[in-house]
Amino acid sequence: MEKKINLREDEIPTQWYNIVADMPSPPDPPLNPQTLEPLKPEELRAIFPMGLIRQEVSTQRFIDIPKEVLEIYKIWRPTPLMRATRLEKALKTPAEIYYKWEGVSPPGSHKPNTAVAQAYYNMVEGIQRITTETGAGQWGSALAFATRLFDLYCTIYMVKVSYNQKPYRRVIMETWGAEVYPSPSERTNVGRNILKEDPECPGSLGIAISEAIEDAATHEDTNYSLGSVLNHVLLHQTIVGLEAKKQFELIDRYPDVIYGCVGGGSNFAGLCFPFIMDKLRGKKPDLRVVSVEPLACPTLTKGIYAYDYGDTAKLTPLLKMYTLGHMFVPPPIHAGGLRYHGDAPILCKLTKDGVMDAVAYHQNEVFEAAVLFAKTEGFVVAPETAHAVKAVVDEAIKCREKGERKIILFNCSGHGHFDLAAYDQYLKGKLEDYEYPIELVKKALQHLPKVK
Ligand SMILES: *Cc1c(COP(=O)(O)O)cnc(C)c1O
Repeated sequence: MEKKINLREDEIPTQWYNIVADMPSPPDPPLNPQTLEPLKPEELRAIFPMGLIRQEVSTQRFIDIPKEVLEIYKIWRPTPLMRATRLEKALKTPAEIYYKWEGVSPPGSHKPNTAVAQAYYNMVEGIQRITTETGAGQWGSALAFATRLFDLYCTIYMVKVSYNQKPYRRVIMETWGAEVYPSPSERTNVGRNILKEDPECPGSLGIAISEAIEDAATHEDTNYSLGSVLNHVLLHQTIVGLEAKKQFELIDRYPDVIYGCVGGGSNFAGLCFPFIMDKLRGKKPDLRVVSVEPLACPTLTKGIYAYDYGDTAKLTPLLKMYTLGHMFVPPPIHAGGLRYHGDAPILCKLTKDGVMDAVAYHQNEVFEAAVLFAKTEGFVVAPETAHAVKAVVDEAIKCREKGERKIILFNCSGHGHFDLAAYDQYLKGKLEDYEYPIELVKKALQHLPKVK
Protein backbone atom coordinates (compact mmCIF):
# COMPACT_ATOMS: atom_id res chain seq x y z
CA MET A 1 0.00 0.00 0.00
CA GLU A 2 1.54 3.26 -1.12
CA LYS A 3 1.56 6.30 1.15
CA LYS A 4 2.10 8.78 -1.69
CA ILE A 5 0.79 8.29 -5.20
CA ASN A 6 3.03 10.40 -7.42
CA LEU A 7 2.92 11.30 -11.09
CA ARG A 8 5.96 12.15 -13.21
CA GLU A 9 6.44 15.71 -14.46
CA ASP A 10 5.58 14.64 -18.00
CA GLU A 11 2.24 13.32 -16.72
CA ILE A 12 0.98 16.76 -15.65
CA PRO A 13 -2.29 17.30 -17.59
CA THR A 14 -1.83 19.68 -20.53
CA GLN A 15 -5.45 20.92 -20.66
CA TRP A 16 -7.83 22.37 -18.09
CA TYR A 17 -11.41 21.03 -17.86
CA ASN A 18 -14.35 23.38 -18.40
CA ILE A 19 -17.44 21.91 -16.70
CA VAL A 20 -19.76 24.39 -18.46
CA ALA A 21 -19.65 21.99 -21.43
CA ASP A 22 -21.29 19.26 -19.32
CA MET A 23 -23.66 21.08 -16.96
CA PRO A 24 -27.30 19.87 -16.90
CA SER A 25 -28.44 23.50 -17.23
CA PRO A 26 -26.24 26.44 -18.22
CA PRO A 27 -25.12 28.95 -15.59
CA ASP A 28 -27.06 32.24 -15.47
CA PRO A 29 -25.17 35.13 -17.08
CA PRO A 30 -23.55 37.90 -15.00
CA LEU A 31 -25.42 41.22 -15.18
CA ASN A 32 -24.18 44.77 -15.60
CA PRO A 33 -24.57 46.38 -12.15
CA GLN A 34 -26.05 49.59 -13.62
CA THR A 35 -28.39 48.36 -16.37
CA LEU A 36 -29.12 44.87 -14.93
CA GLU A 37 -28.76 43.59 -18.50
CA PRO A 38 -26.52 40.59 -19.27
CA LEU A 39 -22.91 41.75 -19.22
CA LYS A 40 -21.12 41.97 -22.58
CA PRO A 41 -17.65 40.39 -22.48
CA GLU A 42 -16.09 43.68 -23.75
CA GLU A 43 -17.31 45.43 -20.61
CA LEU A 44 -14.68 43.52 -18.64
CA ARG A 45 -11.78 44.78 -20.79
CA ALA A 46 -10.93 47.70 -18.50
CA ILE A 47 -9.68 45.28 -15.84
CA PHE A 48 -9.15 41.81 -17.44
CA PRO A 49 -7.10 40.59 -20.45
CA MET A 50 -9.03 39.10 -23.41
CA GLY A 51 -7.38 35.70 -22.86
CA LEU A 52 -9.13 35.40 -19.50
CA ILE A 53 -12.40 36.98 -20.67
CA ARG A 54 -12.60 34.36 -23.43
CA GLN A 55 -12.13 31.60 -20.84
CA GLU A 56 -14.74 33.23 -18.59
CA VAL A 57 -17.42 32.77 -21.28
CA SER A 58 -16.07 29.63 -22.94
CA THR A 59 -18.21 26.50 -23.42
CA GLN A 60 -15.36 24.40 -24.82
CA ARG A 61 -14.82 21.22 -22.74
CA PHE A 62 -11.00 21.23 -22.63
CA ILE A 63 -8.69 24.26 -22.90
CA ASP A 64 -4.94 24.02 -23.55
CA ILE A 65 -2.59 25.08 -20.77
CA PRO A 66 0.12 27.35 -22.24
CA LYS A 67 3.65 25.85 -22.26
CA GLU A 68 4.98 28.76 -20.16
CA VAL A 69 2.38 28.05 -17.46
CA LEU A 70 3.16 24.31 -17.45
CA GLU A 71 6.87 25.11 -17.05
CA ILE A 72 6.12 27.08 -13.88
CA TYR A 73 3.62 24.49 -12.58
CA LYS A 74 6.60 22.09 -12.53
CA ILE A 75 8.11 24.01 -9.59
CA TRP A 76 5.61 22.19 -7.35
CA ARG A 77 3.36 20.06 -9.59
CA PRO A 78 2.38 17.28 -9.89
CA THR A 79 1.32 17.41 -6.23
CA PRO A 80 1.11 14.10 -4.35
CA LEU A 81 -2.11 12.20 -3.72
CA MET A 82 -1.67 10.96 -0.15
CA ARG A 83 -3.30 8.01 1.61
CA ALA A 84 -4.17 9.04 5.16
CA THR A 85 -3.31 5.62 6.59
CA ARG A 86 -2.47 6.85 10.08
CA LEU A 87 -5.71 8.85 10.31
CA GLU A 88 -7.65 5.77 9.15
CA LYS A 89 -6.01 3.74 11.91
CA ALA A 90 -6.72 6.35 14.57
CA LEU A 91 -10.40 6.37 13.55
CA LYS A 92 -10.53 2.54 13.26
CA THR A 93 -12.40 3.00 10.00
CA PRO A 94 -12.68 0.47 7.20
CA ALA A 95 -12.86 3.43 4.78
CA GLU A 96 -9.89 4.50 2.66
CA ILE A 97 -9.03 8.19 3.02
CA TYR A 98 -7.06 10.06 0.35
CA TYR A 99 -6.08 13.71 0.12
CA LYS A 100 -4.65 15.81 -2.67
CA TRP A 101 -1.89 17.84 -1.03
CA GLU A 102 -1.78 21.38 -2.45
CA GLY A 103 0.24 22.81 0.45
CA VAL A 104 3.51 22.02 -1.36
CA SER A 105 3.40 25.12 -3.59
CA PRO A 106 5.76 27.99 -2.70
CA PRO A 107 2.95 30.18 -1.24
CA GLY A 108 1.56 27.07 0.49
CA SER A 109 -1.87 26.62 -1.11
CA HIS A 110 -3.74 25.81 -4.34
CA LYS A 111 -4.00 29.52 -5.22
CA PRO A 112 -0.90 29.77 -7.48
CA ASN A 113 -2.60 27.31 -9.91
CA THR A 114 -4.67 30.27 -11.09
CA ALA A 115 -2.32 33.12 -10.10
CA VAL A 116 0.36 31.84 -12.50
CA ALA A 117 -2.15 31.43 -15.35
CA GLN A 118 -3.62 34.90 -14.75
CA ALA A 119 -0.20 36.56 -14.62
CA TYR A 120 0.73 34.81 -17.88
CA TYR A 121 -2.35 35.98 -19.85
CA ASN A 122 -1.82 39.55 -18.59
CA MET A 123 1.87 39.48 -19.54
CA VAL A 124 1.05 38.23 -23.06
CA GLU A 125 -1.25 41.22 -23.63
CA GLY A 126 1.39 43.74 -22.55
CA ILE A 127 0.09 44.50 -19.08
CA GLN A 128 2.84 45.79 -16.76
CA ARG A 129 1.15 45.64 -13.37
CA ILE A 130 -1.61 43.69 -11.61
CA THR A 131 -3.62 44.86 -8.60
CA THR A 132 -5.56 42.78 -6.15
CA GLU A 133 -6.97 42.69 -2.62
CA THR A 134 -6.05 40.30 0.13
CA GLY A 135 -7.51 39.58 3.54
CA ALA A 136 -5.32 37.21 5.52
CA GLY A 137 -2.79 37.26 2.66
CA GLN A 138 -3.07 33.86 0.99
CA TRP A 139 -4.26 35.16 -2.35
CA GLY A 140 -1.91 38.15 -2.19
CA SER A 141 1.10 35.93 -1.67
CA ALA A 142 0.09 33.63 -4.55
CA LEU A 143 -0.23 36.60 -6.91
CA ALA A 144 3.01 38.19 -5.65
CA PHE A 145 4.80 34.91 -6.42
CA ALA A 146 3.18 34.53 -9.87
CA THR A 147 3.75 38.11 -11.06
CA ARG A 148 7.43 37.88 -10.07
CA LEU A 149 7.91 34.89 -12.40
CA PHE A 150 6.62 36.93 -15.38
CA ASP A 151 8.39 40.18 -14.39
CA LEU A 152 5.17 42.06 -13.66
CA TYR A 153 4.65 44.62 -10.91
CA CYS A 154 2.10 43.70 -8.28
CA THR A 155 0.11 46.07 -6.04
CA ILE A 156 -1.80 44.52 -3.17
CA TYR A 157 -4.46 46.21 -1.03
CA MET A 158 -4.40 44.36 2.27
CA VAL A 159 -7.25 44.79 4.76
CA LYS A 160 -5.75 47.10 7.40
CA VAL A 161 -6.45 44.91 10.46
CA SER A 162 -4.69 41.97 8.79
CA TYR A 163 -1.84 44.22 7.64
CA ASN A 164 -1.24 45.17 11.25
CA GLN A 165 -1.99 41.78 12.85
CA LYS A 166 -0.46 39.37 10.31
CA PRO A 167 2.90 40.87 9.33
CA TYR A 168 4.45 37.61 8.06
CA ARG A 169 2.14 37.24 5.06
CA ARG A 170 3.02 40.85 4.15
CA VAL A 171 6.72 40.08 4.43
CA ILE A 172 6.46 37.06 2.11
CA MET A 173 4.58 39.20 -0.47
CA GLU A 174 7.27 41.88 -0.24
CA THR A 175 10.01 39.26 -0.52
CA TRP A 176 8.54 38.33 -3.91
CA GLY A 177 8.62 42.02 -4.82
CA ALA A 178 4.99 43.10 -4.41
CA GLU A 179 3.96 46.50 -3.02
CA VAL A 180 1.54 46.02 -0.15
CA TYR A 181 -0.68 48.85 1.15
CA PRO A 182 -3.00 48.77 4.15
CA SER A 183 -6.58 49.35 2.94
CA PRO A 184 -8.29 51.80 3.10
CA SER A 185 -5.33 53.71 1.66
CA GLU A 186 -4.63 57.25 0.43
CA ARG A 187 -3.94 55.87 -3.09
CA THR A 188 -7.54 55.74 -4.37
CA ASN A 189 -10.68 57.90 -4.30
CA VAL A 190 -12.55 55.10 -2.55
CA GLY A 191 -9.85 54.88 0.13
CA ARG A 192 -9.46 58.66 0.59
CA ASN A 193 -13.20 59.15 0.97
CA ILE A 194 -13.48 56.44 3.59
CA LEU A 195 -10.49 57.77 5.53
CA LYS A 196 -11.95 61.29 5.50
CA GLU A 197 -15.09 59.97 7.21
CA ASP A 198 -13.34 57.48 9.47
CA PRO A 199 -9.55 57.81 9.82
CA GLU A 200 -9.50 54.73 12.08
CA CYS A 201 -11.42 52.47 9.63
CA PRO A 202 -10.04 48.90 10.04
CA GLY A 203 -10.88 48.06 6.42
CA SER A 204 -12.76 45.13 4.89
CA LEU A 205 -12.40 42.84 1.91
CA GLY A 206 -15.16 44.81 0.17
CA ILE A 207 -13.23 48.08 0.50
CA ALA A 208 -9.95 46.47 -0.60
CA ILE A 209 -11.63 45.04 -3.72
CA SER A 210 -12.99 48.48 -4.57
CA GLU A 211 -9.51 50.05 -4.20
CA ALA A 212 -7.84 47.38 -6.34
CA ILE A 213 -10.49 47.70 -9.08
CA GLU A 214 -10.28 51.52 -9.09
CA ASP A 215 -6.47 51.39 -9.34
CA ALA A 216 -6.66 48.96 -12.31
CA ALA A 217 -9.51 50.75 -14.11
CA THR A 218 -7.72 54.12 -13.94
CA HIS A 219 -4.33 52.91 -15.25
CA GLU A 220 -3.92 51.87 -18.88
CA ASP A 221 -1.08 49.38 -18.23
CA THR A 222 -2.72 47.82 -15.16
CA ASN A 223 -5.25 45.02 -14.70
CA TYR A 224 -7.07 43.51 -11.74
CA SER A 225 -7.00 39.90 -10.64
CA LEU A 226 -9.40 37.79 -8.54
CA GLY A 227 -8.39 34.61 -6.71
CA SER A 228 -11.70 32.71 -6.61
CA VAL A 229 -15.40 32.70 -7.66
CA LEU A 230 -15.01 33.47 -11.40
CA ASN A 231 -15.32 30.75 -14.08
CA HIS A 232 -11.74 31.14 -15.32
CA VAL A 233 -10.37 30.71 -11.79
CA LEU A 234 -12.29 27.44 -11.34
CA LEU A 235 -11.09 26.35 -14.78
CA HIS A 236 -7.41 26.83 -13.82
CA GLN A 237 -7.88 24.90 -10.59
CA THR A 238 -9.10 21.77 -12.42
CA ILE A 239 -5.43 20.80 -12.79
CA VAL A 240 -5.87 19.49 -9.22
CA GLY A 241 -8.70 17.07 -10.02
CA LEU A 242 -7.28 16.03 -13.39
CA GLU A 243 -4.04 14.98 -11.69
CA ALA A 244 -5.97 13.22 -8.93
CA LYS A 245 -7.93 11.18 -11.50
CA LYS A 246 -4.70 9.95 -13.06
CA GLN A 247 -3.38 9.09 -9.60
CA PHE A 248 -6.49 7.06 -8.75
CA GLU A 249 -6.11 5.20 -12.05
CA LEU A 250 -2.58 4.20 -11.03
CA ILE A 251 -3.93 2.44 -7.93
CA ASP A 252 -7.09 1.20 -9.61
CA ARG A 253 -9.46 3.08 -7.31
CA TYR A 254 -12.24 5.65 -7.71
CA PRO A 255 -13.63 7.88 -4.93
CA ASP A 256 -17.18 7.31 -3.61
CA VAL A 257 -17.37 10.67 -1.87
CA ILE A 258 -15.36 13.90 -2.27
CA TYR A 259 -15.08 16.73 0.28
CA GLY A 260 -13.53 20.19 0.12
CA CYS A 261 -13.77 23.48 1.97
CA VAL A 262 -15.57 26.28 0.15
CA GLY A 263 -14.81 29.99 0.56
CA GLY A 264 -15.39 31.18 -3.00
CA GLY A 265 -15.32 27.61 -4.31
CA SER A 266 -12.11 27.44 -6.33
CA ASN A 267 -10.07 24.73 -4.60
CA PHE A 268 -13.04 22.40 -4.27
CA ALA A 269 -14.30 23.00 -7.81
CA GLY A 270 -10.75 22.31 -9.01
CA LEU A 271 -10.67 18.93 -7.32
CA CYS A 272 -14.23 17.73 -7.88
CA PHE A 273 -15.26 19.03 -11.33
CA PRO A 274 -13.22 16.45 -13.31
CA PHE A 275 -14.92 13.71 -11.22
CA ILE A 276 -18.36 15.35 -11.59
CA MET A 277 -17.79 15.08 -15.34
CA ASP A 278 -18.01 11.28 -14.90
CA LYS A 279 -21.09 11.63 -12.68
CA LEU A 280 -22.87 13.83 -15.22
CA ARG A 281 -21.97 11.53 -18.10
CA GLY A 282 -23.24 8.42 -16.30
CA LYS A 283 -19.85 6.81 -15.53
CA LYS A 284 -20.17 7.22 -11.75
CA PRO A 285 -23.79 8.29 -11.12
CA ASP A 286 -23.71 7.64 -7.35
CA LEU A 287 -20.65 9.84 -6.64
CA ARG A 288 -21.32 12.14 -3.66
CA VAL A 289 -19.70 15.58 -3.72
CA VAL A 290 -19.93 17.71 -0.58
CA SER A 291 -18.84 21.31 0.09
CA VAL A 292 -17.83 22.17 3.65
CA GLU A 293 -18.28 25.68 5.06
CA PRO A 294 -18.24 27.44 8.45
CA LEU A 295 -21.51 27.77 10.40
CA ALA A 296 -20.50 31.42 10.95
CA CYS A 297 -20.68 32.05 7.17
CA PRO A 298 -23.03 29.34 5.84
CA THR A 299 -23.46 30.50 2.25
CA LEU A 300 -24.53 27.22 0.60
CA THR A 301 -26.40 25.73 3.57
CA LYS A 302 -28.35 28.86 4.65
CA GLY A 303 -28.01 31.46 1.89
CA ILE A 304 -30.58 32.19 -0.78
CA TYR A 305 -30.05 31.63 -4.51
CA ALA A 306 -30.24 35.06 -6.14
CA TYR A 307 -28.36 37.71 -8.10
CA ASP A 308 -26.06 39.73 -5.85
CA TYR A 309 -22.97 41.96 -5.97
CA GLY A 310 -19.56 40.42 -5.40
CA ASP A 311 -18.37 43.26 -3.17
CA THR A 312 -19.67 45.73 -0.61
CA ALA A 313 -19.08 48.76 -2.85
CA LYS A 314 -21.25 47.31 -5.68
CA LEU A 315 -18.52 47.71 -8.32
CA THR A 316 -18.63 44.11 -9.56
CA PRO A 317 -21.14 42.60 -11.98
CA LEU A 318 -24.16 40.87 -10.44
CA LEU A 319 -23.62 37.14 -10.09
CA LYS A 320 -26.34 34.51 -9.61
CA MET A 321 -25.26 32.54 -6.57
CA TYR A 322 -26.11 31.40 -3.07
CA THR A 323 -25.54 34.54 -1.03
CA LEU A 324 -25.83 35.86 2.51
CA GLY A 325 -26.05 39.39 1.06
CA HIS A 326 -23.16 41.64 -0.06
CA MET A 327 -23.65 43.72 3.11
CA PHE A 328 -23.09 40.67 5.32
CA VAL A 329 -19.98 40.91 7.48
CA PRO A 330 -19.30 37.45 8.92
CA PRO A 331 -18.07 36.94 12.49
CA PRO A 332 -14.25 37.00 12.81
CA ILE A 333 -13.54 33.26 12.53
CA HIS A 334 -9.97 32.16 11.79
CA ALA A 335 -10.67 30.58 8.42
CA GLY A 336 -10.36 33.99 6.73
CA GLY A 337 -10.58 32.41 3.27
CA LEU A 338 -14.08 31.12 4.04
CA ARG A 339 -15.52 34.47 5.12
CA TYR A 340 -17.15 35.40 1.80
CA HIS A 341 -20.85 36.21 1.42
CA GLY A 342 -21.27 34.40 -1.91
CA ASP A 343 -19.78 31.47 -3.85
CA ALA A 344 -18.77 30.67 -7.40
CA PRO A 345 -21.87 30.77 -9.67
CA ILE A 346 -21.04 27.44 -11.34
CA LEU A 347 -20.63 25.63 -8.02
CA CYS A 348 -23.86 27.23 -6.76
CA LYS A 349 -25.76 26.13 -9.84
CA LEU A 350 -24.55 22.53 -9.47
CA THR A 351 -25.61 22.65 -5.82
CA LYS A 352 -29.01 24.09 -6.76
CA ASP A 353 -29.45 21.33 -9.36
CA GLY A 354 -28.68 18.65 -6.75
CA VAL A 355 -25.40 17.51 -8.31
CA MET A 356 -23.46 18.69 -5.23
CA ASP A 357 -24.29 18.88 -1.53
CA ALA A 358 -23.10 21.06 1.40
CA VAL A 359 -22.52 20.85 5.17
CA ALA A 360 -21.40 23.41 7.79
CA TYR A 361 -19.39 23.19 11.04
CA HIS A 362 -18.30 25.28 14.03
CA GLN A 363 -14.66 26.28 14.31
CA ASN A 364 -13.82 24.41 17.55
CA GLU A 365 -14.85 21.02 16.13
CA VAL A 366 -12.98 21.93 12.95
CA PHE A 367 -9.74 22.66 14.85
CA GLU A 368 -10.20 19.47 16.88
CA ALA A 369 -10.14 17.52 13.60
CA ALA A 370 -7.14 19.52 12.34
CA VAL A 371 -5.17 18.69 15.49
CA LEU A 372 -6.04 14.99 15.08
CA PHE A 373 -4.83 15.24 11.48
CA ALA A 374 -1.57 16.91 12.60
CA LYS A 375 -0.99 14.22 15.23
CA THR A 376 -1.59 11.38 12.77
CA GLU A 377 -0.62 12.55 9.28
CA GLY A 378 1.82 15.21 10.48
CA PHE A 379 0.73 18.17 8.39
CA VAL A 380 -0.62 21.27 10.14
CA VAL A 381 -3.31 22.38 7.68
CA ALA A 382 -4.83 25.82 7.09
CA PRO A 383 -7.96 26.63 9.14
CA GLU A 384 -9.90 26.65 5.83
CA THR A 385 -8.66 23.18 4.91
CA ALA A 386 -9.48 21.95 8.42
CA HIS A 387 -13.20 22.23 7.56
CA ALA A 388 -12.77 19.49 4.94
CA VAL A 389 -10.79 17.39 7.43
CA LYS A 390 -13.67 17.60 9.93
CA ALA A 391 -16.22 16.40 7.37
CA VAL A 392 -13.95 13.53 6.35
CA VAL A 393 -13.45 12.45 9.97
CA ASP A 394 -17.24 12.35 10.42
CA GLU A 395 -17.70 10.35 7.21
CA ALA A 396 -14.98 7.87 8.24
CA ILE A 397 -16.63 7.37 11.63
CA LYS A 398 -19.97 6.74 9.90
CA CYS A 399 -18.23 4.13 7.75
CA ARG A 400 -16.92 2.46 10.91
CA GLU A 401 -20.41 2.35 12.42
CA LYS A 402 -21.94 0.89 9.26
CA GLY A 403 -18.94 -1.27 8.33
CA GLU A 404 -18.60 0.44 4.93
CA ARG A 405 -15.31 0.45 2.97
CA LYS A 406 -15.93 3.75 1.17
CA ILE A 407 -13.20 5.56 -0.68
CA ILE A 408 -13.06 9.13 0.59
CA LEU A 409 -11.15 11.95 -1.13
CA PHE A 410 -10.62 15.52 0.00
CA ASN A 411 -8.66 18.55 -1.12
CA CYS A 412 -5.97 19.47 1.35
CA SER A 413 -5.88 23.03 0.07
CA GLY A 414 -3.02 24.50 2.11
CA HIS A 415 -0.74 24.47 5.11
CA GLY A 416 -1.38 26.46 8.28
CA HIS A 417 2.09 27.75 9.06
CA PHE A 418 0.93 31.37 8.99
CA ASP A 419 -2.13 30.56 11.11
CA LEU A 420 -0.49 29.33 14.27
CA ALA A 421 -2.08 32.11 16.34
CA ALA A 422 -5.42 30.41 15.62
CA TYR A 423 -4.06 26.99 16.66
CA ASP A 424 -2.65 28.67 19.79
CA GLN A 425 -6.10 30.00 20.69
CA TYR A 426 -7.70 26.62 20.09
CA LEU A 427 -5.10 24.82 22.20
CA LYS A 428 -5.61 27.32 25.02
CA GLY A 429 -9.39 26.81 24.86
CA LYS A 430 -9.98 30.42 23.86
CA LEU A 431 -11.55 29.86 20.46
CA GLU A 432 -15.15 31.06 20.21
CA ASP A 433 -17.94 29.36 18.28
CA TYR A 434 -20.39 31.74 16.64
CA GLU A 435 -23.97 30.62 16.18
CA TYR A 436 -25.41 31.05 12.70
CA PRO A 437 -25.89 34.84 12.67
CA ILE A 438 -29.51 34.71 11.48
CA GLU A 439 -30.30 38.36 12.37
CA LEU A 440 -27.23 39.66 10.51
CA VAL A 441 -28.10 37.56 7.48
CA LYS A 442 -31.74 38.69 7.49
CA LYS A 443 -30.62 42.32 7.57
CA ALA A 444 -28.04 41.84 4.83
CA LEU A 445 -30.53 40.04 2.57
CA GLN A 446 -32.78 43.12 2.58
CA HIS A 447 -30.11 44.83 0.43
CA LEU A 448 -30.21 42.33 -2.43
CA PRO A 449 -30.57 44.05 -5.81
CA LYS A 450 -34.05 43.76 -7.33
CA VAL A 451 -33.59 41.74 -10.51
CA LYS A 452 -36.63 40.56 -12.51
C1 LIG B 1 -8.22 30.89 -0.12
C2 LIG B 1 -8.22 29.54 0.46
C3 LIG B 1 -9.40 28.76 0.52
C4 LIG B 1 -10.77 29.28 0.12
O1 LIG B 1 -10.89 29.68 -1.20
P1 LIG B 1 -11.62 28.78 -2.31
O2 LIG B 1 -11.70 29.67 -3.50
O3 LIG B 1 -12.95 28.37 -1.79
O4 LIG B 1 -10.73 27.62 -2.55
C5 LIG B 1 -9.31 27.48 1.04
N1 LIG B 1 -8.14 26.98 1.48
C6 LIG B 1 -7.00 27.68 1.43
C7 LIG B 1 -5.74 27.07 1.95
C8 LIG B 1 -7.00 28.99 0.92
O5 LIG B 1 -5.86 29.68 0.86
